[in-house]
Amino acid sequence: MYSKEVERILLKVQKPGRYVGGELNSVIKDKKDIDVRFAFCFPDVYEVGMSHLGMKILYSQFNTVPYIWCERVFAPWIDMEELMIERNIPLYGLESGDPITDFDFIGFTLQYELSYTNVLNMLKLAKIPIKSKDRPELKNIVVAGGPCACNPEPLAEFIDIFFIGEGEEVDLEVIELYRKFRAENKSKKEFLIAASQIQGVYVPALYNVEYNNDGTIKSFTPEEGAPAKITKRLMMNLDEVFYPDNFVVPTIEIIHDRAVEEIFRGCIRGCRFCQAGFLYRPVREKSVATIDKQCRELCKNTGYDEVSLSSLSSSDYSRVVELLTQLNKWSNEEKVSISLPSLRVDGFTDDIMSKIKTVRKSGLTFAPEAGSQRLRNVINKNVFEDELLQTCDTAFGGGWSKVKLYFMIGLPTETLDDVAEIAALGQKVVDTYYRNPNKQKGRAVSVTVSASSFVPKPFTPFQWEPQDTIPQLHEKQQHLKKSITTKKITYNYHEADTSFLEAVFARGDRKLCKVMEIACQNGFHFDGWDDCFSLDAWMKLFEQCGIDTAFYANRRRSFDELLPWDHIDYGVTKEFLISECKKAYEAATTPNCRQKCSNCGVGKWKGGICVEKRQSMV
Ligand code: SF4
Repeated sequence: MYSKEVERILLKVQKPGRYVGGELNSVIKDKKDIDVRFAFCFPDVYEVGMSHLGMKILYSQFNTVPYIWCERVFAPWIDMEELMIERNIPLYGLESGDPITDFDFIGFTLQYELSYTNVLNMLKLAKIPIKSKDRPELKNIVVAGGPCACNPEPLAEFIDIFFIGEGEEVDLEVIELYRKFRAENKSKKEFLIAASQIQGVYVPALYNVEYNNDGTIKSFTPEEGAPAKITKRLMMNLDEVFYPDNFVVPTIEIIHDRAVEEIFRGCIRGCRFCQAGFLYRPVREKSVATIDKQCRELCKNTGYDEVSLSSLSSSDYSRVVELLTQLNKWSNEEKVSISLPSLRVDGFTDDIMSKIKTVRKSGLTFAPEAGSQRLRNVINKNVFEDELLQTCDTAFGGGWSKVKLYFMIGLPTETLDDVAEIAALGQKVVDTYYRNPNKQKGRAVSVTVSASSFVPKPFTPFQWEPQDTIPQLHEKQQHLKKSITTKKITYNYHEADTSFLEAVFARGDRKLCKVMEIACQNGFHFDGWDDCFSLDAWMKLFEQCGIDTAFYANRRRSFDELLPWDHIDYGVTKEFLISECKKAYEAATTPNCRQKCSNCGVGKWKGGICVEKRQSMV
């Protein structure tokens, strides 16, 4: 329960519902029964964090353990933050209202690089020293996980423990170790040394980094017996892995306000720009029966009338039609709509369309990613123009008239002709609508072309590639704008400035910790929000710290270079990534995991799709 001080400021801020807790299914425990308190911090506002599936899973899982109390903490928006500072109110947990300093663990999920300043700012608002070395006691252990933990180095001086891979088991093992060491009056250092022996745990303070004269990394040396390679944790049997049977139901509108059922992890595809596609290998599916049971429970316990079947590419679920048929048996009667996000162009069949028809026809979203076939081959998208047009035709005939198409600009080997082909593809989709005899009578087509800027990411075949400079990206954005000649196409593009900062941090090293520290002192936060982001302010800061941003964002790295994340092992070998990068230069594609195993390295876990019988074609 929030304090009297918080109550006094609630009516002065936008959306006070962000700060009060008390929602349906939020967990309140009696502190006298609690041995470990975990503050699960999402470094963005409530509406974003409450939509995040990983947080829902871990919050529920921790709270099923009788002696752990996990609470939610979100970044207060700037109006609330100003008042909290003015009234000397420290950051607090939403369930108890207690300050974060009362918690044993302070855990952050790192979903995007632009949230890094919020991580440090939340520690500052909690009045907790931001640097690990300034927190010598065995309390307030700061941990972090999520996709950005794959290159932990820009946050190495601030986080005590990074969780590499999937957190369900490893988090609890670390909490158990903490209880044991605290009971034995051991020091934080002793705890961290012991924790570093657990698979999936990375303790950055136990590694010493040396640099070459050109700024690249010379060596990465573990100390105190820490492993030279930190191998990710993963859960092999998703039917047995913990999944919540209810979610906290928010009282204010959030980004994704519906029940979410995870249907599989990983992705069979191997798009060469996609970090998630490599980090979460191999594909592991839940059974139809498990999904059906979990969907029913979620709807019953939350009251939601929509379930989203979540994964990186939902139409790639191997028994998608059987699943939808099973769910339709009760969902139609109970007026629950089933949504299938992340559809692939080649996955939207008549059969699937008829089974998700109950979902309002708000628009379909596909991601061809590149306009030309050559460039789609470079990125291994394995999507063809006639498939896209056929899919759109099917959707238009089925009553849809809105299509959103996502593209990336700045992809390796891209030319201005490739960019112009994005506009040409959009035009072909418009023409397909007007040729369709079964389109909605009297309704105009709406095609949105959305273009983001390519950011090279660790653990992808493009991890060595330079990002286009901001002027190059601007030129391509304008070229695309000029190439679109019809009002039926709406063109959106993301600012290149934020993608540039994302690129600096995504492939950064420990030298960036200094920049992060000063950014925190100077009040940087919410870099993912236009209201707060200033490229000029960041560039001044980099200059002040003697950091050449082009070194991180715009430099082509050699295959021989020791990369800042080379001590982390997600299973996919560097040799495989190099071979995929070379194939990209030749616009040669690689079959998906269901067609043929390409021996990426993940097969060493002997599970999931790596051991399943392959189909001849998908
Ligand atoms: S080992 Fe083969 S099947 Fe398994 S993830 Fe890698 S490429 Fe796919």
